[in-house]
Amino acid sequence: MTKILIHICCAPCAIYPLKKLKEKDNDVQGFWYNPGIYPDWEYQRRLRCLKAYAGREKIKVIYEYKKQESHFGSTEEEKCLNCYQLRLDKTANVAREGGFDLFTTTLLISPYQKHELIREIGEKAGRKMGVDFLYTDFRNGYREGITQAREMKLYHQRYCGCARSIRERVESKEKGTKAQELIADSYLAHCF
Ligand code: SF4
Repeated sequence: MTKILIHICCAPCAIYPLKKLKEKDNDVQGFWYNPGIYPDWEYQRRLRCLKAYAGREKIKVIYEYKKQESHFGSTEEEKCLNCYQLRLDKTANVAREGGFDLFTTTLLISPYQKHELIREIGEKAGRKMGVDFLYTDFRNGYREGITQAREMKLYHQRYCGCARSIRERVESKEKGTKAQELIADSYLAHCF
């Protein structure tokens, strides 16, 4: 049986990858490490949601609670690169220490993430730590996962995670509608 550690960014994104990995009779364990989620109430909300989901589905999860309040870089590319690297380096390290055969991430399900960059950084982290990165393109299961998350009434966020991603969301297509709910929150008054 192959022992796999999967980095989990949030519960809704974990549903489909966990299902696919378990289909092959692997021993799959989750790993929560998302230090850039801003603000703290959002971090806690995603964490609580994962704990409730993992408890219900009997999924083993390792939790690493470290927070990082500062931005990850000055450019769009740089900030996401650093953010992915931080999380995947840590996941690879925990995988190695825990005797896992492979590691991967739920970030590979999102059509909104920089997919090829995640793959590149995951493979690099694997080489650095001496444990293989399991690349899988989970994106064709994105809709299925989100539909199931809605049925299970799991909380699903409307922005990626960091403070800058809130601003980008506000400035994007949802301007004037749901984004108003985000900026209305008093926490965001201190963001920018
Ligand atoms: S947009 Fe998402 S991946 Fe990029 S830095 Fe922010 S939280 Fe990380």
